[in-house]
Amino acid sequence: MKKYFNKVLIANRGEIAVRIQRACKELGIQTVAVHSTADSDAMHVKLADESVCIGPPQAVNSYLNIPAIISACEITGAEAVHPGYGFLSENAHFAEILEAHNITFIGPTSEHIKIMGDKITAKETVSNLGIPVVPGSNGKIEDLNHAKKIAKNIGFPVLIKASSGGGGKGMKIAKSQNELEEAFNMAKIEAKASFGDDTVYIEKYLETPRHIEIQILGDKNGNAIHLGERDCSLQRRNQKVLEEATSPVIDTLKRKEIGEIASSAISKLGYHGAGTIEFLYEDNKFYFIEMNTRLQVEHPITEIITDCDLVKEQISIAAGNNLSKKQADVIIKGHAIECRINAENPRTFVPSPGKITAYHPAGGPGVRVDSGAYSGYTIPPYYDSMIGKLIVFGNDRTDCLDKLKRTIDEFVIEGVETTLPLFKDLLQNEDIISGNYNIHWLENYLESHP
Ligand code: ADP
Repeated sequence: MKKYFNKVLIANRGEIAVRIQRACKELGIQTVAVHSTADSDAMHVKLADESVCIGPPQAVNSYLNIPAIISACEITGAEAVHPGYGFLSENAHFAEILEAHNITFIGPTSEHIKIMGDKITAKETVSNLGIPVVPGSNGKIEDLNHAKKIAKNIGFPVLIKASSGGGGKGMKIAKSQNELEEAFNMAKIEAKASFGDDTVYIEKYLETPRHIEIQILGDKNGNAIHLGERDCSLQRRNQKVLEEATSPVIDTLKRKEIGEIASSAISKLGYHGAGTIEFLYEDNKFYFIEMNTRLQVEHPITEIITDCDLVKEQISIAAGNNLSKKQADVIIKGHAIECRINAENPRTFVPSPGKITAYHPAGGPGVRVDSGAYSGYTIPPYYDSMIGKLIVFGNDRTDCLDKLKRTIDEFVIEGVETTLPLFKDLLQNEDIISGNYNIHWLENYLESHP
């Protein structure tokens, strides 16, 4: 018999809090929701066994309020915390404080969060473990002369990146020597302003890559596996919009090759928990960009094609159990696509919070909707604008695309603007139908289809 926890607190909101509660309930675990005053009517609060209000609407006072979350654990007797994604999920300090209170953090060690949170350290660490990285400076750039020397070696265009970076901030391209000084200075200023740290490094700027990421799992007993790739190349301002698994450009051999490199690296690192190793992929080569030490928004597409519940695995790993699958048990079947349905204008992406007056999610075989929305629910303006995720499974990519078209036509959300019409347009496009796109494709498409 596997052991789990009796009670888990979910330090998040929205669709991911609901998703984690569902996994807990199926494992017989009691759930505690935390919420801000703006979220009293949210689905994650309604569905939880217990809930605790942890502060006013602004995330910094509620979902990021570590003392209030620790108090909620103490009051309810929660033995473990699942952080979801965003908020405190990659906060090493939070993981440390939980540890100090004898509460299990459902995620990796604070040490591994720290290593991967600093991009220079992360790149150096994974490179030493055999993962291919983007050519560039091995470590921080001291000054402009140093930047010039490296740029000359790797060739233009180059990208100056913030070591503490996130959300695309502190990242500047220099196409030639003339642009280097300005890009270097701007990246440092932006990095200092955003992260309080102006450490930057240089990488070769890849011009037409795809974004391909590998899902990994490691347990506390030294086992590690990979669950194949996700292709997240359809992005706007570095934000993923639609993801698919498998990738239209990765075959079985390539998947095995990069998957084994990834799982062997995390095994050597002694990493436990779920994680995602993100790569740019160009001319048949992988280049590491970062590792996320948490569950990803797009995890369901992997769950569907591998028949593996990643949230249950995370909980089980945290409780000390072995992984439930060995690499040989991971069989990839069919194709899955996820569309992020946001309360936003489908062209300008301006947020459209407000009351959902009618809500009818799509259904049918192979259709999954992860959402915290319901008819009559008011989307608060304080958090990200995701209403939910439409995830569709098909026997192959064509079947999946056909099903996606049908489900998008069926999905009804009224009262707020949504990104559903954008997906409807994208599914008519030849490049999307044939899988011929890279990380710049969507921006170019939006420019030419205003
Ligand atoms: P952040 O953590 O700020 O999101 P990442 O390193 O994950 O930064 O990169 C975000 C995005 O920036 C990538 O998905 C890719 O689109 C682009 N990018 C990052 N590094 C490079 C590179 N060397 N060449 C081209 N594009 C890059």
